[in-house]
Amino acid sequence: MERPSHTHRPVPEIDVALLSGFGFSCLPDCGLCCFTSPRLDRDDETRLHAVAPQARIALEGRETCLAARPEGGACQFLDHLRCAVHAARPAPCREFPVSVHIGTRLQATVVLSCPGLRLNALVSNGSARSPAPPSDFESELASVRQRLTPAVERPRSEAERRRRRIARGLEDQGRWVEEEEVRRRLGKRRLVPAPEDYHLEEPPLAEEGLERLPIYYDGRPGPMALAQGLGGWEALELSAEGGARPIGIAVPPDRLPTLDEDAEALLSGYLGYWLARDGFLAAVHLAMLSTTEGTVVDATLDDLHAIGSTVLARGSVRSKLRGNPGARLTRADVEAGIRATDQDWLDRPTWGSRL
Ligand code: SF4
Ligand code: SF4
Repeated sequence: MERPSHTHRPVPEIDVALLSGFGFSCLPDCGLCCFTSPRLDRDDETRLHAVAPQARIALEGRETCLAARPEGGACQFLDHLRCAVHAARPAPCREFPVSVHIGTRLQATVVLSCPGLRLNALVSNGSARSPAPPSDFESELASVRQRLTPAVERPRSEAERRRRRIARGLEDQGRWVEEEEVRRRLGKRRLVPAPEDYHLEEPPLAEEGLERLPIYYDGRPGPMALAQGLGGWEALELSAEGGARPIGIAVPPDRLPTLDEDAEALLSGYLGYWLARDGFLAAVHLAMLSTTEGTVVDATLDDLHAIGSTVLARGSVRSKLRGNPGARLTRADVEAGIRATDQDWLDRPTWGSRL
């Protein structure tokens, strides 16, 4: 009997709507996205070994990665903020700041910690987003599409099975709400946290590992990281070789800071962007398995308030570190908070996976 052929299965489409309207150009002196251990697939490994046989490979869980230098240092191939293996760099590096979540569909989103992205598209809950094709991401999307083979159907079916299991479990408890219904109900609500919704999520201690700290670009040669310090949050400048230099300390607000009108519009648009990300709702569903109360709508709103609180706390600390009192936050402060938050939250586990 003939084996069924998989060669004619269609390659799934990527939903790129969440890339629209974001201008992007990489900043030459940044290097933020190279303070990481990028994942490697087999093709990446082969290409990399051809130009750099000495490449050090690490295992993170079940993933093969390119090892970073110890103590929060950059990828082993970052040399004076340039990639020493540029032509053979692995897929996550070719595609950043685009990231694709595999769930019920393939959805592309942008990692807003990247300072090369302009955030105008977030304002007014995304209604200002241009419907024009995302031309600033041509090379990133070309790399994504090159990796899209019919084999991606397997993680997609696995993700769908996991989703159904979670949905059934929550339905039995009367707590399940379909994703589109969650979006419909919350799309009408004010997503920015009210004073009673504000709570501080402290960054980790530096002693727990510099690679665990939230990082952001601040125009310095090395990225900045925020850590819990004595009496406040400490800003550390990370070195590509590993280690960090303390730059300053600031106290995060213990209650909701006030926002000017532009700052509120940007935060509202940012939280709307989270609601549109499939990976976010998948992370909320997964986390709900370990609680026994509340519906998906309640849990989603709680998480949006937590993200909003983190943005405001980190934006306020960054503002104070620049010498501003930080009592009333401006659009620039909220933007600084978004940059220092987005990657952190995107890293949370979901019932799906990343391409
Ligand atoms: S974080 Fe963005 S701006 Fe910075 S190096 Fe990476 S792609 Fe370029
Ligand atoms: S391989 Fe190159 S682009 Fe990728 S993280 Fe390392 S230095 Fe950066």
